[in-house]
Amino acid sequence: MNYSKQRELVLQTLCENVVHPTAEYIYDIISKSDNSVSLATLYRNLNQLTEAGKIKKIDGLENSAHYDHNTEEHYHFICTKCRKVFDIPPDVANDIVKNTESKTGFVIQSHDVIFHGLCNDCKEVK
Ligand SMILES: [Zn+2]
Ligand SMILES: [Zn+2]
Repeated sequence: MNYSKQRELVLQTLCENVVHPTAEYIYDIISKSDNSVSLATLYRNLNQLTEAGKIKKIDGLENSAHYDHNTEEHYHFICTKCRKVFDIPPDVANDIVKNTESKTGFVIQSHDVIFHGLCNDCKEVK
């Protein structure tokens, strides 16, 4: 499979898995249908897609980054128990960029907000 086709496949796999998968998770799915894609190739594709602004990389938990095909502004909540990553709408923190710029004088180019805690399933003691 040629390079741009691989990247297409990576992007498509990511879009079909809206749960912010890790690279390892995407690799599992892809290798079921095509075992010519190595994990190293997958990482390279994910990095290129991130640099091109086509996907977002979410750091913040353990060693594995999660990947997001939703590049619209939104925040993330990572459950410390089940490790799922949830989307949080940006209106929970309106004007966070404007407020920060006016307090510091900095010019903000991008920002990531990640909340950590227990999701609705995990907060119930079962
Ligand atoms: Zn949870
Ligand atoms: Zn997201």
